[in-house]
Amino acid sequence: MYTCGPTVYDYAHIGNFRAFLFEDLLKRWLIQRGFKVTHVMNLTDVDDKTIKGSQKQQMPLKQFTDFYTKAFFEDIKALNIQSADIYPRATEHIPEMVALIKTLMAKGYAYRGEDGSIYYAISKFPDYGKLSKIKTAELKTGARVSQDEYAKEEAQDFALWKAWVPEDGDVYWETELGKGRPGWHIECSAMSMKYLGETFDIHCGGVDNIFPHHENEIAQSEAATGKKFVDYWLHNEFLLVEGKRMAKRFGNFFTLRDLLAKGYDSNAIRYLLSSTHYRQQFNFTFEGLESAKGAVERLRNFVRRLHDVDGGKDSKGKVATLVAKLEACFGGSMDNDLDIGTALASLFDFVREINNLLDANEVSKQEAADAGGLMMRIDEVLGVIGKVEVEEALPADINALVQKREEAREAKNWKEADAIRTQLKQMGIVLEDTAQGVRWHKEKA
Ligand SMILES: [Zn+2]
Repeated sequence: MYTCGPTVYDYAHIGNFRAFLFEDLLKRWLIQRGFKVTHVMNLTDVDDKTIKGSQKQQMPLKQFTDFYTKAFFEDIKALNIQSADIYPRATEHIPEMVALIKTLMAKGYAYRGEDGSIYYAISKFPDYGKLSKIKTAELKTGARVSQDEYAKEEAQDFALWKAWVPEDGDVYWETELGKGRPGWHIECSAMSMKYLGETFDIHCGGVDNIFPHHENEIAQSEAATGKKFVDYWLHNEFLLVEGKRMAKRFGNFFTLRDLLAKGYDSNAIRYLLSSTHYRQQFNFTFEGLESAKGAVERLRNFVRRLHDVDGGKDSKGKVATLVAKLEACFGGSMDNDLDIGTALASLFDFVREINNLLDANEVSKQEAADAGGLMMRIDEVLGVIGKVEVEEALPADINALVQKREEAREAKNWKEADAIRTQLKQMGIVLEDTAQGVRWHKEKA
């Protein structure tokens, strides 16, 4: 699976993260269904935008892109996005790009323009436009576009290799193709095929990548290899903010860091951005973020409640029926093109129905463990609950007491261990010693 990664010229915004979270959900679901996934996500660290950005900051390109690469990795960690297996950087794959361009030239798909750059002749590739459904018959052949991003109406021969111009400053490579730098599109063709082979299963990105980026990736790769490039293309729709396209000039542009700085919880952000079907436009609102926070809390409280079940009558098979029902509904919905909306609806039905049984004290310890086990399997996909009992951050003084008690227990100093337990209880922290070690939770108010 290849997913177009960030162009590391700025902090990623929530529209970018909608794409990365949809891809994370897809990957987690495939893994849950038993597929072995190899995930490659590129880092675009040389293109029109990164060069412009580094010049504006008067910084060497590498220093500039390293800064935003580090920020990107911090952000995906905050959102609990599973790491890709490989994060190839464009600047570390120039030889692979040069080799691919040479093949395209040898096969007659690429030519050198009078500006010294090398262009892809879209008229030579009859399938050009098959992904984005543009009509190439109307295109003027030989017209050229040198910038990385352009609109469908401007579909023309595009740059594979850009001959150095003074505006590029010190960003260039001396290669067999001359002094210059790669175009953006060739980067993804070269890096995806290097790590995944000439034909691979899944390629993802946002709908804004369909044209020209993915259209051009297909043209480059299939012309070079004569083989089908990708079996399944999955594209997520746009994100709107309060009903409008997100743009700095509208004052509705948010990076993840903007939201975290406003005090929003990363789990709620993850939940919200993942909870709409990827092929639907998603309208981000702060009201939605508040209710996402509530939804995550409900799930966490539910898991904690299951964990706390001690005794309780047996439900006479009701819990088992609900577990089987949720397993089937959640799985069936996710199998149906990642229908997360229906999957989540079935999850909250389950929470409500089990909560009713818990209220009636009709859930045995074993049944609670079965329900909790399913919740954990589902959270391997959703990634918002986490280890409820142990991972919630403890204040440092309480944490120190827990550690001190552990040491006392190891030293078999039961008296001190019990004294600390009592002290913690007075602070509202309840400890439980399990086979997996000590667990704690806040006493219910
Ligand atoms: Zn790409």
